[in-house]
Amino acid sequence: MTDGTGSHLMATYAPAPVTFLRGEGSYLWDTEGRRYLDFLSGLAVTSLGHAHPVVADAVCRAARTLLHTSNLFRTGPAEEVASTLDRLLGGGGRVFFANSGAEANECAIKLARKWAGHGRYVVVSAYGSFHGRTLATLHATGQPAKHEAFQPLPEGFRHVAWQDVDALANAVTPEVAAVLLEAVQGEGGVWPAGREYFAEVRRLCDERGLLFMVDEVQSGLGRTGRWWGFEHYGVRPDVVTIAKALGNGVPIGACWARREVAEAFRPGDHATTFGGQPLAASAAKATLAVMEAEDVPARAEARGAYLRQKLAAIPGVASVRGLGLLLAVELRDGDAGAVAARCLEEGLVLNAVTATALRLEPPLLISEEEMDEGVAILTKVLDIPEEAGGRVR
Ligand SMILES: *Cc1c(COP(=O)(O)O)cnc(C)c1O
Repeated sequence: MTDGTGSHLMATYAPAPVTFLRGEGSYLWDTEGRRYLDFLSGLAVTSLGHAHPVVADAVCRAARTLLHTSNLFRTGPAEEVASTLDRLLGGGGRVFFANSGAEANECAIKLARKWAGHGRYVVVSAYGSFHGRTLATLHATGQPAKHEAFQPLPEGFRHVAWQDVDALANAVTPEVAAVLLEAVQGEGGVWPAGREYFAEVRRLCDERGLLFMVDEVQSGLGRTGRWWGFEHYGVRPDVVTIAKALGNGVPIGACWARREVAEAFRPGDHATTFGGQPLAASAAKATLAVMEAEDVPARAEARGAYLRQKLAAIPGVASVRGLGLLLAVELRDGDAGAVAARCLEEGLVLNAVTATALRLEPPLLISEEEMDEGVAILTKVLDIPEEAGGRVR
């Protein structure tokens, strides 16, 4: 131990000085017994709130029944989850299960190469995007500063300006197989792609014979007020990647592709030991069942409209952007990191998505009273001059 923290974890994060012990619904409790309102949901993961009883029961039952058999055998829950996802995506596709968002995107990238065939392997993505931290998905991530220390990265990635269809068209050479875009750039600051942009990308992909692959890892599963972010834009992608909220906290990712594309994979082309195993798939099955029963897209839309309007009325807030309950507030002044830290001290969990903007991703089942409570905390924090700093409670 050389860093003085006493931690045996690699220092890839700079964790906030709070250890959470327990969660229920929209709330978390720390080791001191203090209660926090969770406006982050573990980065758009626990969309049904913490310790949802239906998911908890499914996980317990799976643990007592059958945890793992490998993908050399069929497993019931994975088939059911694939069928539900395909239905929610409009049908006609197939699913590969992975364990994370990055792995779901790795699958999409490999599938695009296999589908496109010899000499066509380039995936074009956007600056400001985020697609994961494995070497390939890191290269797909359009943030050159994150690439520097890890060169050389796998070949076959090209970046273009976000929301610029001309730049995209100019980047399409004969080597290009696919375009990979987020429906809402999440890590990049919560920037919805927009209807016109996605419609033009769809047209370009059709003209040039490219796959349009949409990363719905953060924006999917009701978060934006529709099941999928791309539904706001009236297009249908060829490939969709999903993860974060799919297991409500149990790691599971998925790559969906329309059947003709999915059929490019033959036995042996791609694999994973854990992907879709019974524990994770049981969690996903329960999560999707609750999401459908509660109509989470409709809730996210209604709650999002409510929260947006409350946030916009806070004096320290310059603007609010996003879709449904995937929101960011641009602060009038002050450092978003410091504001997020002061909110945490006041019992509100959120995140500084840029130097000047906070990201809010509350559970989709959040109540109006809970949103009012969160807005009151943020209002109070933004009302205190930064120099006063420190604990205000
Ligand atoms: C979080 C995220 C990923 C990466 O998911 P991991 O599970 O962390 O690998 C990929 N794409 C988007 C849009 C994300 O928000």
